[in-house]
Amino acid sequence: MSSQQALIKLADQCVLCGICIPTCPTYQQQRSEAESPRGRISLVKALAEGKLSADPVLQQHLASCSGCLTCQQVCPAKVQYQKILLGGKQLLSSNITD
Ligand code: SF4
Ligand code: SF4
Repeated sequence: MSSQQALIKLADQCVLCGICIPTCPTYQQQRSEAESPRGRISLVKALAEGKLSADPVLQQHLASCSGCLTCQQVCPAKVQYQKILLGGKQLLSSNITD
């Protein structure tokens, strides 16, 4: 399985319930889906699927995550947010340097 396929599989565990969203400090500040855990998971999935390019806006949304992992603690679907975030950042840096 490629790293992209592995990331898509991890992201697909998110059932989009939104329970994590109010707990996220960057969402509380920005009130933007792209600054929420669910939003970041969707962005990483789209990047892995080749539906989004590795642009500075996407990079900023991943970089602004504090890494507090509150989202992972409250997630009823046990989504492995940290793995998704790290995988997304790795994919982003490899795309940017390609
Ligand atoms: S709580 Fe978990 S399943 Fe629900 S939206 Fe957040 S990451 Fe996805
Ligand atoms: S790890 Fe990132 S996405 Fe998750 S709650 Fe913390 S700031 Fe939000």
